[in-house]
Amino acid sequence: MNRQSPKRFTLAILSLALLLASFNAAEAQRKRSTKEETTTVGSPVNAILDLGSSMLNSATSYVDVDPYSQFREQQYSNEGLLSERDEIKLGNTIHLEVQKRYKIVADGQARLNRIGQRIARASRRPGLAYQFHVIRDKELNAFSTPGGHIYVTTALMDIASDDQLSSVLAHEVGHVVARHSLKTLQQTQMLGGIADLIGSVTGIAGDTAQQLGTLAAQLVGSGLLSVHNREEEREADFLGVHTMAKAGYDTEAMISMFQKILNVGERDSSLLNELFSDHPAVQERIDNTRYEIDHMRNSRRR
Ligand SMILES: [Zn+2]
Repeated sequence: MNRQSPKRFTLAILSLALLLASFNAAEAQRKRSTKEETTTVGSPVNAILDLGSSMLNSATSYVDVDPYSQFREQQYSNEGLLSERDEIKLGNTIHLEVQKRYKIVADGQARLNRIGQRIARASRRPGLAYQFHVIRDKELNAFSTPGGHIYVTTALMDIASDDQLSSVLAHEVGHVVARHSLKTLQQTQMLGGIADLIGSVTGIAGDTAQQLGTLAAQLVGSGLLSVHNREEEREADFLGVHTMAKAGYDTEAMISMFQKILNVGERDSSLLNELFSDHPAVQERIDNTRYEIDHMRNSRRR
């Protein structure tokens, strides 16, 4: 009994941390549309005008600013986070809870897996055993969890061509490559406790496994793992468009997918998950993707 109490204590602390974290996540999401970041694409030409150039009189003129400059030399690994083995264990435990909460169906699974595996092999984390799952839902949504589980709703699959679906999957694989969910757990001070819990799980059954399950249920319920800040979204888009190109998909489809999402949202915003409902952000993602496609074309020409 005494041996178990530290574990219970750990779980209690983690639950509290999760409660606070999910509150912060909801708050962050609420603020997302109003929050302005310092890095913007296409800075107005005010600076140039200040230098006295009267030739530039259009307020819509923009100076090219690389929206992805901070990601170009980025290297990715599990160092300082969870080991890959523990990340996979955590992902599998979370998947059991996702299965309880959402309706995972076989429709379209073969198509999703075919496109997903092609994207995964072309990604910067090709060694991971990715698993792609279809969720029956009328909302447009996709999300990923640690360890390479990726989920897409039937509504999104129904409106997307193969190339467009590849852009969504390449973006989600990008989150897994950049370990965004693990970084979220680290920022909320939960990663150490989770590592301890995983480390003490010796079998499938048992008290600790159950506690890990409880925690996973809370993680799924809070939606914490699918909340990413704008910088993480930008990074996943950047990794995604490159992965699409490497896998031989048409990168223009990332832009047409964003436009489809905007169109659906204009008809019925209730069909957009909160991840997509932030219109200015979607327009910014279109502009950034256009920038990167041109950038890739120019680099090839050189
Ligand atoms: Zn994302």
